[in-house]
Amino acid sequence: MQHFIDVIIPIPLPKLFTYSITASEAGFLSVGMRVSVPFGKSKIYTGIVSKIHNEAPTVYEAKEIHQILDDAPIVNEKQLQLWQWIASYYMCTLGDVMRAALPSAFILESETVITKNKQTIDESILKDDEFLVYEALHHQSSLKIHDVSNILDKKNVLPVIKRLIEKEAITVEEEVYEKYKPKLVRYVKLHANFSSETALQKLLDDLSRAPKQRDVVLTLFSISAKTKKPIKVSDLSEESNASVSIIKTLIDKGVFEEYHIQTDRVQYSGDDNEDSKNLNSYQKSALSDIKASFETHAVTLLHGVTSSGKTEVYVKLIEDAINNGKQVLYLLPEIALTTQLVTRLQNYFGKQVAIFHSKYSAHERVEVWNNVLKNSAKAQIVLGARSSIFLPFSNLELIVVDEEHEQSFKQFDPAPRYHARDTAIVLGNMHSAKVLLGSATPSLESYFNAKQNKYGLVELMQRYNDVMMPEIELVDIQEKLKKKRMKGHFSDRLIEEISETLKAGQQVILFQNRRGFSPIVECKTCGHSPQCPNCDVSLTYHQYRNQLRCHYCGYVMAMLQDCMACGSQDIDNKGFGTEQIEEEVKQLFPDYKVARMDLDTTRGKYGYEKIITALEQQQIDILVGTQMLTKGLDFRNVRLVGIMNADNMLNFPDFRAHERSFQLMLQVSGRAGRTDERGKVLIQTYNPHHNILQQVSTNSYIEMFNEQMDDRYNYKYPPVYKQIKITLKHKDYNRVDVASIWLAKSLRQIFADNVLGPESPPIARIRNQFHKNILVKIPKQQSLLKTKEAIIKINNSFFSIKDFRSVKVILNVDNF
Ligand code: ADP
Ligand code: ZN
Ligand code: ZN
Repeated sequence: MQHFIDVIIPIPLPKLFTYSITASEAGFLSVGMRVSVPFGKSKIYTGIVSKIHNEAPTVYEAKEIHQILDDAPIVNEKQLQLWQWIASYYMCTLGDVMRAALPSAFILESETVITKNKQTIDESILKDDEFLVYEALHHQSSLKIHDVSNILDKKNVLPVIKRLIEKEAITVEEEVYEKYKPKLVRYVKLHANFSSETALQKLLDDLSRAPKQRDVVLTLFSISAKTKKPIKVSDLSEESNASVSIIKTLIDKGVFEEYHIQTDRVQYSGDDNEDSKNLNSYQKSALSDIKASFETHAVTLLHGVTSSGKTEVYVKLIEDAINNGKQVLYLLPEIALTTQLVTRLQNYFGKQVAIFHSKYSAHERVEVWNNVLKNSAKAQIVLGARSSIFLPFSNLELIVVDEEHEQSFKQFDPAPRYHARDTAIVLGNMHSAKVLLGSATPSLESYFNAKQNKYGLVELMQRYNDVMMPEIELVDIQEKLKKKRMKGHFSDRLIEEISETLKAGQQVILFQNRRGFSPIVECKTCGHSPQCPNCDVSLTYHQYRNQLRCHYCGYVMAMLQDCMACGSQDIDNKGFGTEQIEEEVKQLFPDYKVARMDLDTTRGKYGYEKIITALEQQQIDILVGTQMLTKGLDFRNVRLVGIMNADNMLNFPDFRAHERSFQLMLQVSGRAGRTDERGKVLIQTYNPHHNILQQVSTNSYIEMFNEQMDDRYNYKYPPVYKQIKITLKHKDYNRVDVASIWLAKSLRQIFADNVLGPESPPIARIRNQFHKNILVKIPKQQSLLKTKEAIIKINNSFFSIKDFRSVKVILNVDNF
């Protein structure tokens, strides 16, 4: 009898390849183990065994495998099931999923580049062939697999490389992410012993023979009189013209007290774990509601306002799960942006928390993978971004999806274009685990599912410690303009509030929405921006043709000469960015430290963390920033949040624009006044009566939900309809144009009016490739599976046309 295996290879092939194996190999191999296999003329790939059987392929002769790479499976059956689901649901290949799922150190292939590990190892543990490779890396900084073949004079070198990786002698080359340690800034204050008038007088008398020290004490006073902020040692030294050693003498004498601003973000020291907090009565009832809901609904949504203490509730559920010896997955939108939370969980659970992030080094990722695979105590709780749904869980009891509304859970590029929240629900189902989705501003999808009783719903509507929700004030900039009360982009109200906040020694955050690539047109007099008659989205301005276009249905009109609403000719299509706000605010408040947080300023290594640390340590008075500011940050001293212009968010050309604006504004508002003092939020807008703004200012999620759902029904958008976006790309415009028209026409023959496009996106050419989009809308009662089968069939006929073969077609299911 002949033996064969079907192998998943990390390249986008529609079918799996079959290789032949010997009887003894068949006895040894199991599904989920790695093998190295030849492919094409000379390539070698690492593949995963997906099936062991006895049926020879009919259309080609099965090649033999090169080598078995594992003694035991590194991928379990449940994972393979999940891969299968992802490939079929998101319309991609298993090879695509494999490449996204496995740490790259697991996928050795002919193109892999290896380098020597920085730490030297004990060479005596290396076998002869391993040593030869290791030795070669002393002379050359890196080697390719085929170089290794030459050195060892044999073809099958992957096992040697795999062993070298396991012995930590080498690593595969890739971007490495190191941990950031914030620098602690030293501050001083007068020791409490000298707080009384008499004690102070006596101190100054005593210091009369040490005039320099006396000077320093007096300088400290004059600075504190001017500012209520903490005083840095370096500033005091500069102002008083005294050396740091004089300040140190005063500290040693007990005149001054030295301190650091304590933040929650200190690196986990590995010492004793903290006990979790006692929940207040609201949190307690939320917790018991969640447990009750889990009895009937494996997926439950926790709708809890910002700062209500959702995290502490998650912590209790996690404790239960790990006390049962089970695994927990805690999903976060972006790890790099949530260092505060990482530290919080490490303080509670210490070494049981493993962090998994695509930017961690290959070695760290393999380590977490193996710990999860072994169900080791070291990875009982995995805290990770979206790719952590791919880890080899075997014993999962709880999945928490924090900030479930966040867009970044969806992968855009490359395939698999999966949504980690939705995939986590499928994963949970496979393990019979409970899934808790948490947010202060749930996605319409999740809230809709909760209303339909598909998910359970639990609410937590009180902020912890009864801190009040910030007071939200809408500022009508149209009126301010008329009354000449604007300085640049700042209304008199905003300037007043900023001044007051700064005087009180507190901090300000100014939020400016990052504009998409598509500029919208806005009347400077009345704020109106032209809408598409069919889609309820703003039209985008296309400078090239001087046209206004709808991103969704292709509606086109000539650029306006005057405003359709008020007739004014003062029409603006430029928009203003964070940079301009930063400039203006620096001029308005020259005595204060202003910083900016956006893609430009956070690009460098640790750019983001540096700014967060500076804000925490109060080295920044005013922070101007984009979306990034909304990610669950907890700043004690921020009292005022200013939203520079709500309209450019609301008018963004996307059917989710209103939902997103609501979420963004409430999330940024949540950054204000997290302590006993009530925070304040100022929203500048041309349309203070816009329903979304009214709903934000009264924190009326339900009203927003109901109103937005009406639109989604009327215009057939998710979550009422599902949708698949098809993008075609080619460097030749005519070819992609003809191809997209052909494809849309074929799709219309089956799906009729539920096909929109083809439409050129606002940036019609990216990297010299012209794009065309087609949208397929899928009613709830239409079978998703059959729809996808039909699309695949049409796609196949498409590629049988010679002219279209070079056109790239990208399928994005549940596109965002
Ligand atoms: P959310 O995640 O809902 O925005 P957090 O969990 O971050 O809220 O809680 C807000 C703040 O309140 C945090 O600083 C947290 O430490 C504190 N907090 C929440 N619950 C408790 C509790 N039961 N005991 C003490 N402090 C708490
Ligand atoms: Zn339209
Ligand atoms: Zn107008």
